[in-house]
Amino acid sequence: MIEPGATIGIIGGGQLGRMLSIAAARLGYKTHIYDPHEASCADDVAAYRTRAAFESVEAIRRFGESVDVATYEFENLPSQALQALGEKLRPGVRSLEIAQDRATEKQFIEQCQARVAPWRAVSSLEDVEAAVAELGLPLVLKTRRYGYDGKGQAWIRSEDEIGSGWKAIGEEPAVAERGVAFAAEFSVILARWADGRHAFWHSPENAHVEGILRRSTVPCSHVVGPQVGDARKAALRIAETLGHVGVLTVEFFASREGPVVNEIAPRVHNSGHWTIEGAVTSQFEQHIRAICDLPPGSTELSARGAVMNNLIGPDIESWVQLVADPSLHVHIYGKGEARPDRKMGHTTRVTRA
Ligand code: AMP
Repeated sequence: MIEPGATIGIIGGGQLGRMLSIAAARLGYKTHIYDPHEASCADDVAAYRTRAAFESVEAIRRFGESVDVATYEFENLPSQALQALGEKLRPGVRSLEIAQDRATEKQFIEQCQARVAPWRAVSSLEDVEAAVAELGLPLVLKTRRYGYDGKGQAWIRSEDEIGSGWKAIGEEPAVAERGVAFAAEFSVILARWADGRHAFWHSPENAHVEGILRRSTVPCSHVVGPQVGDARKAALRIAETLGHVGVLTVEFFASREGPVVNEIAPRVHNSGHWTIEGAVTSQFEQHIRAICDLPPGSTELSARGAVMNNLIGPDIESWVQLVADPSLHVHIYGKGEARPDRKMGHTTRVTRA
């Protein structure tokens, strides 16, 4: 067990690192943020920071020596450099490697007996043409690496769009995936301990606009509810096969044939932000508990439900009105410039009655 007073290293200094640091501090831990940027929004709430490239094996090794356990808040990290952290890294490198390449990820999900949308790996225009012939339309191209929040994606809705779609994703190795006619989107968020103990939160129903999460609602609707049981089984098989330690999120489409996995995030997730006020133990605290091997906290709802809304780009300009609304919990990430697609904060409304 890693006891309070110890230092937790967090690779990545975004809002997830910030909220992990706040949760760690409540339990008496210090955090050390590792991020290449001059300033990161997690720095403001952490005891220590290292500014260095993610690829620097030497800097990662030194960082590893200065912390008691290390974790990561996003998955686009060079796994080779992170090997330098050895057993101190939780979750381990395998969770990272599987989640950072969409083709590897889909193969892995299928091996875990979970369903994904019909797909093909593509690396040329001819491959895309063949994928359209085999999978049908509409189809979405997603770059294998470095995609997030709908970036690195292009929809092909008719044969005329094959060339422009392939160009739009930069002609990079990608997966071509059939469009799923889903009734709703939801996620399974779980935490797993090294000895196999695990806990699920209520599954949020998620609404995306242009590939970016806008809103998560618990409890989910009657459309999603009947699919959560199967989705949890699939998510747990994924976590167990990975030997995952910490929080793991699996995003699903609720389709007529049952739950279809969209993607895995080997970490705390935007669709779990509601747990800060809406659950007895938040995803951030539970992640700290799991990686430090503390006992699990309760994942029960603390109220009847919760609705989390992201504040994206200019949404943050209305912060004064939001802070003045007594029914809202407002989280501002302290990021500075409100670029159009940037996640600047979120609000959570907890339903009591
Ligand atoms: P992703 O970055 O893969 O999570 O995709 C972002 C969003 O795009 C998803 O949450 C969906 O709303 C939509 N999307 C992605 N892939 C598909 C698909 N195969 N079928 C339908 N919608 C999709």
